[in-house]
Amino acid sequence: MSGSPFGARFDAVRARAAELGVDAVLVSVGADLPWLCGYEAMPLERLTMLVVPRDGEATLVVPGLEAPRVVERPEFGLRPWGETEDPIAIVADLVRGAGRVAVGDRTWARFVIDLAHALPGVELRKASEVTGPLRARKDDHEVVALCRAGAAADVVARAIQAGEIGLVGRTEADVSAEIGRRLVDEGHQRVNFAIVAAGENAASPHHEPGERRIAAGEGVLFDFGGTMHDEWGVGYCSDITRCVWLGEPPAEAAEAYAALHASHAAGVAAAQVGTPCQDVDRAARAVLVDAGLGEWFVHRTGHGIGVEEHEDPYLVEGNDLPLEVGHAFSIEPGVYLPGRFGFRLEDCLAAAAAGPVSFTAADRDLRALG
Ligand code: ZN
Ligand code: ZN
Ligand code: ZN
Repeated sequence: MSGSPFGARFDAVRARAAELGVDAVLVSVGADLPWLCGYEAMPLERLTMLVVPRDGEATLVVPGLEAPRVVERPEFGLRPWGETEDPIAIVADLVRGAGRVAVGDRTWARFVIDLAHALPGVELRKASEVTGPLRARKDDHEVVALCRAGAAADVVARAIQAGEIGLVGRTEADVSAEIGRRLVDEGHQRVNFAIVAAGENAASPHHEPGERRIAAGEGVLFDFGGTMHDEWGVGYCSDITRCVWLGEPPAEAAEAYAALHASHAAGVAAAQVGTPCQDVDRAARAVLVDAGLGEWFVHRTGHGIGVEEHEDPYLVEGNDLPLEVGHAFSIEPGVYLPGRFGFRLEDCLAAAAAGPVSFTAADRDLRALG
């Protein structure tokens, strides 16, 4: 087994903080903390905060009663605080003398406001300015973790396509719950979402599965993913979308899906190292525009994925960031015809020198079932 990845991440955070003139980085709830040190803060009213000075020892300030959950590591010291102590004062003491401090984007406003008062004259920045580009570039170990999570989601997608999961007559919510159970059975620790959208509901990209019963003769869209731990307890996300038609799809739906499939392929082909993110979006979008479906592709082509299901880099018009080796992201064009039907086709991939590596590979055709 290789050494932990955390030492290199602390080094990278300190180096980037130095570049940005940031004197300390403070991370609380959210994905920065487990990525950096392997510990996930409980999202509760007692403050957990990792204090990373640019120069000097890092300290994890943690509620005393949660300290037993922490796996201690050489990269940080532990400062449990008692019920009558003021954790904001403890953090403020640890960054005394700092002029510019970056605070984790997901930190609760109540703590940020208290910190601002406890650190008068200190400039507060978003920690994502430090961690975003670092987290976006996955190392080999992280690409393996994303492949494992993707492979587990792929098993569930193939079960849907094989007709192993009953659909006709069941509610969307019931099928969604089964997909969630299967994601856990395949090794995910957490289910992040399991969209099941039948018929006209599939025209709403983030449909909430409900009590609508799935019927023969209609399309169903499935978009699901979860979080799977690596050997250090850091969770990496899966995310896949596939569609089926219960019976033979009408010509209009089959044609729209064929254009979508071509759009997805164009996006994947464009996702080469050095290509600006927006050019991937343009490549996928052009196919749907040419097919007369451009107005129904209402969202960006993709999002980064890693310890969070949506993170940098975003494949969207206006983002001219060139793809780098290790960037991991979704390619997920969609077509949504309001009140009628909708399709999306999604895989997550990592940019690599020899071309993108897909974490999922379940059949990408519109599967006719039943
Ligand atoms: Zn989405
Ligand atoms: Zn998705
Ligand atoms: Zn996605």
